[in-house]
Amino acid sequence: MTFRGPSNGASFHVQSGPRFFQEVPMPAARFYVTTTIPYVNARPHLGFALELVQADVLARHRRQHGDQVRFLTGTDDNSLKNVLAAEAEGLPTQELVDRNAAAFQALHQPLALSFDDFIQTSRDPRHRPGVERFWRACTAAGDLYRKHYQGLYCVGCEQFYTPAELRDDRCPEHDTQPQLITEQNWFFRLSRYQDQLHHLIDSGQLRIEPAVRRNEVLSFISAGLEDFSISRSHTRARGWGIPVPDDPDQVIYVWWDALGNYITALDYANHSPDYRHWWVDNPRRVHLLGKGVLRFHAVYWPAMLLSAGQPLPTDILVHDYLTVDGNKISKSAGTAIDPVELVAQFGTDPVRWWLLREVPRVGDADFTIDKLIARTNRDLADDLGNLINRVVSMMHRYRHGRPPTSTAQPTTDAHQLTAACQQAPGLIAAALDAFDFRTATAAVWTIVEEANRYVEHIRPWHLARAERDGSTQATAELDTALNVLLRACQALAEHLRPFLPNAAALIAAQCTPSAGQLPSPQPLFPKIATRTP
Ligand SMILES: [Zn+2]
Repeated sequence: MTFRGPSNGASFHVQSGPRFFQEVPMPAARFYVTTTIPYVNARPHLGFALELVQADVLARHRRQHGDQVRFLTGTDDNSLKNVLAAEAEGLPTQELVDRNAAAFQALHQPLALSFDDFIQTSRDPRHRPGVERFWRACTAAGDLYRKHYQGLYCVGCEQFYTPAELRDDRCPEHDTQPQLITEQNWFFRLSRYQDQLHHLIDSGQLRIEPAVRRNEVLSFISAGLEDFSISRSHTRARGWGIPVPDDPDQVIYVWWDALGNYITALDYANHSPDYRHWWVDNPRRVHLLGKGVLRFHAVYWPAMLLSAGQPLPTDILVHDYLTVDGNKISKSAGTAIDPVELVAQFGTDPVRWWLLREVPRVGDADFTIDKLIARTNRDLADDLGNLINRVVSMMHRYRHGRPPTSTAQPTTDAHQLTAACQQAPGLIAAALDAFDFRTATAAVWTIVEEANRYVEHIRPWHLARAERDGSTQATAELDTALNVLLRACQALAEHLRPFLPNAAALIAAQCTPSAGQLPSPQPLFPKIATRTP
């Protein structure tokens, strides 16, 4: 079976040996993908797990196809919110920040993440010199100036709002009353970049997905961009954060500092080979983010890069929010589900699968434990788990665990299944390129559905009975059917790797013959007991 590969044109050959796919060598593309860096005033919640898992899938998928990948995540330490959280707990700020940053980094194992780099902005030696260099570059461009400023400031957002942006005089994100703040600050000449930014986004040179977010940014820019404050007084920052170069009474605005992480982590400070390799000379520089921070990433950050004379990101991929039991995720409201606890209770594969299979490309998704259980039992235990178990069991029952060597062409009954296997790589690649995880997982799932349909249609147990009665045609047909099914299971192991790396490894182990012999069938995905009300 030859699969015509995804958009890069690679092709793969499926075998029943230990290596399912032999990739045709081709020049490796480069792919740099980042998540946002969250404040560490609290432990991670499920909403951020979504972003991490999405970035992980993109990174794994690219690696699987031989690309060079760098996947960065980290924490935004230099926020006033962290100072306030530390005060509330009676801890030194650095101690609270370190403790919570460690909790974010530790998501690596339970969520099966494959990030290559983790930047903690208060500690990483690459960060502060990079932010300072960036500041000086914008100063040299003539884009920074001092001005008296009065504004309505939300501490939760670390952002000034105009009265028109508030909802009933309250922050639209936090529903709290912003503070009126007057001080002399540094400003960034954002207004200068209005036309250039509009053109870059409108022409697709800076791609924003989905289109609804792109249009939102374009209309925000068209409404007119105002210069924004990029520092605060040392006092209001409680002495926490990166001082403004040559003006130690001011601290760099936390968003300016945080956005810089995408290049400081590549050692922008020294314009090192890493920075050139992954940013300047790399055709794919991808940021993943939630819709709440779109303006920072699609307007402020690109303008800052233009000012500093550096390349922009190429892709901005925007997800919506998760709600939990119909409520916005909030620590104070007790709706912040801890992804680590969720994984401890249900396992990595069910949590990843729910996030990837159920969260739509546009629109908020509501998480409930019942939905997680239902999805796990239906997809992983019933459809996928039973399929693998059935195929391996039949191979043992009818062929002593030894995949037949027959080379007969599958009959037309197998057409839908082989078509699903052939189409999956292209469909997955196209969906992931469009930042559509539901469609990508659906393409994988078509193989599962077609394989189960094929089993029901061909009824291998009938063929086995006819074979016992001496039909040589039944022997040939059973050989072929078992091989078609085993190849489909092997294709599933391959295509599930970016989405469910743990499950994919289990399936590959079940479906890979060693010295011509398959291992004994093992149930892979136990059903989760439904909760009693
Ligand atoms: Zn707010």
